[in-house]
Amino acid sequence: MTEALGAPEKMAERREELTPMLSQYLDLCERYDDALVLFQVGDFYETFCEAAEEAARVLEITLTAREDSTGTYPMAGIPIDNAEPYIETLLESGYRVAVADQVEDADATNSLVERAVTRIVTPGTVTEDELLGGDENNFVAALTGGDSYGLAFLDVSTGDFVATSADSRQQVRDELGRFAPAEAVVEPGVDAELFGADCMVTRFREDAFDAASAREKLDAYFGAPERRLAGDSEIRACGALLSYAEYTRAGQQDTLEYLNHLTRYDPRDYMVLDAVALRSLELFEPRSVHGREGTTLVDVLDETSCALGRRKLTDWLRRPLVDRDRIDARLDGVEELRGDLRTREELAEALRDVYDIERLISRVSRGRANARDLRSLETTLDVIPDLRELLVDADSGKLRDLRARLQDLSDVREEIGSAIVDDPPQELTEGGVIRDGYDETLDELRETEREGKQWIRDLEAAEKERTGVESLKVGHNSVHGYYIEVTKANTEHVPENYERRQTLKNAERYVTPKLKAREDEIVRAEGRADDREYELFVGVRESVAAEAERVQDVAAAVAELDALCSLATVAAEYDYARPEMREAGAPIDIEGGRHPVVERTEEGFVPNGVHLGGDERVAVITGPNMSGKSTYMRQVALVCVLAQVGSFVPAESAELGVLNRVFTRVGASDDIAGGRSTFMVEMTELADILRDADDGSLVLLDEVGRGTSTADGLAIARAITEYIHDETDALTLFATHHHELTDLADDLGEAVNLHFPATQTGDGVAFRHDVAYGAATASYGIEVAKAAGVPDDVVRRARELVERERERNAVEGATSGGAQEADGGSAPSDIEDALRDVDLAQTTPLEAMTVLQELKRRL
Ligand code: ADP
Repeated sequence: MTEALGAPEKMAERREELTPMLSQYLDLCERYDDALVLFQVGDFYETFCEAAEEAARVLEITLTAREDSTGTYPMAGIPIDNAEPYIETLLESGYRVAVADQVEDADATNSLVERAVTRIVTPGTVTEDELLGGDENNFVAALTGGDSYGLAFLDVSTGDFVATSADSRQQVRDELGRFAPAEAVVEPGVDAELFGADCMVTRFREDAFDAASAREKLDAYFGAPERRLAGDSEIRACGALLSYAEYTRAGQQDTLEYLNHLTRYDPRDYMVLDAVALRSLELFEPRSVHGREGTTLVDVLDETSCALGRRKLTDWLRRPLVDRDRIDARLDGVEELRGDLRTREELAEALRDVYDIERLISRVSRGRANARDLRSLETTLDVIPDLRELLVDADSGKLRDLRARLQDLSDVREEIGSAIVDDPPQELTEGGVIRDGYDETLDELRETEREGKQWIRDLEAAEKERTGVESLKVGHNSVHGYYIEVTKANTEHVPENYERRQTLKNAERYVTPKLKAREDEIVRAEGRADDREYELFVGVRESVAAEAERVQDVAAAVAELDALCSLATVAAEYDYARPEMREAGAPIDIEGGRHPVVERTEEGFVPNGVHLGGDERVAVITGPNMSGKSTYMRQVALVCVLAQVGSFVPAESAELGVLNRVFTRVGASDDIAGGRSTFMVEMTELADILRDADDGSLVLLDEVGRGTSTADGLAIARAITEYIHDETDALTLFATHHHELTDLADDLGEAVNLHFPATQTGDGVAFRHDVAYGAATASYGIEVAKAAGVPDDVVRRARELVERERERNAVEGATSGGAQEADGGSAPSDIEDALRDVDLAQTTPLEAMTVLQELKRRL
């Protein structure tokens, strides 16, 4: 949470003496006291006093001083023309920015220019393209407490608005993990620690969270909130979020009318992927491997053609489905497109011409779109009939449904097409935006302008003839306007009605009353035409804005189509197979599975299958470090996630029980959060898993217990696996390089041993990365040490120690076995067995003594 900057205190102390302008600044600072106020003074945004010192430091700009009759004030400013990069730095440094613009023409007033805050820029509510940096969604969240937690997420730049409820803090975290909001508005009294360091926590007016006012707010935008939302908490979260969004638009609430789509979702309708799982499976963020930036799942799936599709694909990944019908519907669409290369390529080609119409229509509705934006919207709408045509023979329900949703918005297209010129300028106030023939008044004004200019063009010839001066010229400059120029040598021929305006070295410049009148007429017509154009443009923009909802519906269909095409392309190009979905709790069967990300970077990736379920519900995977255990476990999880997104999967075949959740406890040493020790983090995550895993869960455990002593670690790992096995029906993959743990599978009825064999080579070991049933036979650590060049003596000594340990275990096993047997009365034969197992050739005298002592004790 950022510190409130406060109004500049030093300034406040001398409030009485301040000039009107600084007093105006101070008022704004006090009113927006949790933001840094950027105060327009001419071409600059200025800050003063403490705020100036702060801004100078953060932005690395020069601290200057303003001097007036009342004193000297520190001041730091940024140019308005190039303000965005500075605002971006401020946001990144944890500030909110209140932009106070001059809201009246400075030349038109003699007194203090009026200024008002026109927007409040915060990390979660930015809409400026320059600040959004990329196609991804940028969410602001709201969180309320009460009987249950209410959660809402809004992307102001696209209009995406979703809500849900959560019963526990953990569930809140899980849902926050999906959307990774940049900012959160939190109800007073609700724990802000639920948000990570990447999220700015904002405290907002308490009354915005009030049920009655939230209801009223929602009603104004969407109609009765009960129709869309479940329960007070959700309603209060959504209402507060709307109030906050309005607040950042500095009271221009009508500009948020494009927020037409509020959808609530039930977390149970999607696979839960909490922040830990998202991170360890690298869905969106690579875990930096020794500072090397990696590839993520979304990267390898992204063959989309437009920003809409990219965001949709990300959203699908964020929320994999659990409903088999919905999954199959998407798979049907992907299958159809995969099988039809031609259509797919033509669709992709057409989709490449699609602009980010979600953001465009949002700009249109907020009154921030210029003529080029409208043109881009039209160009995109032009593509729609092509898309419909390409889907005319579509077979699958999914594609047919999309085709139906791709409405031909010809009215909107025509509206824009008939009004706006083909290649309009960026500026809206300087004309050249509206087509000829669109508006009679504008045409007349333009005609007047044209006629006037033509008259002036003809003037030169006419005056030459009248005066007989061949060198006479008609010209124009910005100070004097039109003039007739005659060289000094010819001034005697100048007629009476010429009035001298300007004397140059070799010439005189004149005007005539008629020329002046014509000129005035032209200037007046120009000015009125510009005004008229702006007015017409705003009219067009407003009538397009009125169709925002239809445009958004079309945008949503385009987005889905692009995402499906992307999945189909990946399926075709990387040889993916259609997964067969089974009910929740059914086994996972994958043949020839691959890790979707590693297979792209690793040459000769070795495919591996898995059968998980029934009496092989828990797999204990052993093998040396670097043999491929983690890759294998993640690959199983990723295949399941992909399938539930509706994607084909990197495998020869896959039959998959639907998962409602993937738990991961992977990679012991990389995440040290909030000062807790790695081991503590690990145990906290494990506690969550043990509490929540059920028969629809897939649990990945990698090297559990690494953060503590080997003995403790092994004991904890064993106890946890036993617990998961006995107390839950979760499908579990458990990887360890301790082959001490392989006997777990013997003890547990529904567990099985898998291992990654290593091949001994001349100078060490090689990994084949292929999984096999059974336990790993040995630890190859010493071979690896040898291959790495550790001196022979050390290697020999290590072998000796391993051997000794093994024997000691054998003896312990024998003796403890003996103890059990002793209860049954057959102890002597067991002691005999133990004795027989002692290999004297390999036993040191001291070890022999130990064995003897133990045997005696037992007897
Ligand atoms: P472990 O978890 O056993 O220490 P990893 O899964 O981290 O091993 O794999 C070690 C390395 O081996 C990875 O970086 C990867 O490049 C490679 N690897 C893993 N699995 C395969 C495979 N199936 N085919 C080819 N290379 C693989």
